[in-house]
Amino acid sequence: MTRQRLAPQTGTAFVLSRGDRLRVIDPAGQQVADCIAFARGDTREWLSSGRTLDYNGTIYLTTGHILYSNRSHPMLTITADTVGRHDFLYTPCSAEMFSILYNAPGHHPSCFENLCRSLGGFGIAPDQIPTTFNIFMNVALTAEGALSVLPPRSKAGDWLEMRAEMDLIVGLTACSAELSNNYAFKPIDFEVTREAPE
Ligand SMILES: [Zn+2]
Repeated sequence: MTRQRLAPQTGTAFVLSRGDRLRVIDPAGQQVADCIAFARGDTREWLSSGRTLDYNGTIYLTTGHILYSNRSHPMLTITADTVGRHDFLYTPCSAEMFSILYNAPGHHPSCFENLCRSLGGFGIAPDQIPTTFNIFMNVALTAEGALSVLPPRSKAGDWLEMRAEMDLIVGLTACSAELSNNYAFKPIDFEVTREAPE
């Protein structure tokens, strides 16, 4: 198990086998990491926000919650969480989002672009990338239904760990959206712990 580092505003993709544990660490604090997963055997099966929120009955996912696929199979279980606030409502930030919300012309690094590039190597097309599980992203919801994006609650060294419940292809980013990261882009670290060989 070696710790790997995503530079600010970058992403990667890798495989997990059933039983592997993925720990996502915020080394500097207040940095979001977007995470998405696809079934390794059939990438038409993907991590589903809708199914996950439905079966858990909450938008605030933490230790003990299971993240489900569009086919209602468990994909990941959250086994530990030192923060307790993450988001599964928002899609990954994208060039179009920066244009629509912030009238930002020209190129802006984004989680969507980084996921497209990383997952493309596994044959996953941009249109296959759904709502991401946004680790450390702090979204507040009012009784009237208004959403607001607040600074992450994560402090330096905080982490979330998930166990793979099937063989997966995982995409992971260090998010590029100013608002989500309290206006400073930091790295994201991650570690994969393999099941002991038999
Ligand atoms: Zn992002």
